[in-house]
Amino acid sequence: MSDSAPSTSYLIKGARVLGGDAIDMLLADGVVAALGADAARSAESDVETVDAAGLIALPGLVDLHTHLREPGREDAETVDSGSAAAAVGGFTAVHAMANTDPVADTAGVVEQVWHLGRRAGLCDVHPVGAVTVGLGGSQLAELGAMAESAARVRVFSDDGKCVSDAVLMRRALEYVKAFDGVVAQHAQEPRLTEAAQMNEGSVSAVLGLRGWPAVAEESVIARDVLLAGHVGSRLHVCHVSTAGSVEILRWAKGKGIDVTAEVTPHHLFLTDENVRSYDPRFKVNPPLRTQDDVDALREGLADGTIDAVATDHAPHSLEDKDCEWAAAAMGMTGLETAVGIVAAAMVDTGLLDWAGVADRMSRRPARIGRLAGQGRPIEVGEPANVTLIDSETRYTVDPKAMASRSRNTPYAGQDLSARPVATFLRGRLTASEGVVRR
Ligand SMILES: [Zn+2]
Repeated sequence: MSDSAPSTSYLIKGARVLGGDAIDMLLADGVVAALGADAARSAESDVETVDAAGLIALPGLVDLHTHLREPGREDAETVDSGSAAAAVGGFTAVHAMANTDPVADTAGVVEQVWHLGRRAGLCDVHPVGAVTVGLGGSQLAELGAMAESAARVRVFSDDGKCVSDAVLMRRALEYVKAFDGVVAQHAQEPRLTEAAQMNEGSVSAVLGLRGWPAVAEESVIARDVLLAGHVGSRLHVCHVSTAGSVEILRWAKGKGIDVTAEVTPHHLFLTDENVRSYDPRFKVNPPLRTQDDVDALREGLADGTIDAVATDHAPHSLEDKDCEWAAAAMGMTGLETAVGIVAAAMVDTGLLDWAGVADRMSRRPARIGRLAGQGRPIEVGEPANVTLIDSETRYTVDPKAMASRSRNTPYAGQDLSARPVATFLRGRLTASEGVVRR
């Protein structure tokens, strides 16, 4: 495939939409222009033909939780480099978290991030607005101004920090109702996790590292689903990591509370046993939990209790990550490995089929973020946001080959068997064969 001009149209031959039967599709003028036998008939002579025999076609993936680090930590990532990583990873839209420097807590900052995303042009970048001024947890930010800005913010989060004050959380939940927004909570009771280094359990006891109890997450989720139900607002729970959290969410949904939740690929795949290596690449917030938690998270994602996979892509510079465990920053990159890890955790295990992956990684996250043009089915007339995945390859994760500016992936050397091989954003090729296309 060559570089694409906006006017290029693509005849994608023989892709299996949602893992079903092979079909031809024509992407032209930014939309899915034709499907099946019509696709080749409708194609102009200068169409670019893509041999997609054996590949899976999904709607472009949507990430609810990405740290792009700009403004402030451009040494770790920029909107441009993070957008490139997203495109390579099969994403056509990402939500950029607010914990930048300055914090995205005003219309000015969210518009800056939004403009940078448009300039990069590799995926739709939707800024998340901070809930509190400076993520300080004491004063509500200008939620309405951010919602009405050019960035049209709908997701608000102090992610990295928890909105631990119940009164502020209640006010935020009430406030966002006016514009159909959602508060995305990083559920971490601060007093229970002071100086915590890893999951509290048998491994932390052996390693002598300060533990991070499951109840620090679960108690906040329990409080917040009750608050959301009380005020009749929409709550989203970031990076659910414990079996108990899944149980609380299942109960809340059963009660009709308007709550959604996400899980990261790493919490579906890694456990606190990985921490025995003291390798800081496994240091993350919330921490890696136990195999029982992983099993419950997989089950919760499969049965829909957990709505979405979100990467929590958290790039860090070498100086912040390549040091001893206690000093290392928390977080791991995830955009470029999400498909491979989710396939290993959910598809290869028979818990989800590819239609299920499309639902959890595209349709539902787009709905939670209220993104009208994303997460749509691959049907004639819909925006041509399409990701082609090779599900029968075999490759080894190589951090040096990644588009992200940072290298803090926990999967270096990991063998995986599913990989995005082409991403189309409104009919334009943004990445192919692991390389960004501009
Ligand atoms: Zn977080």
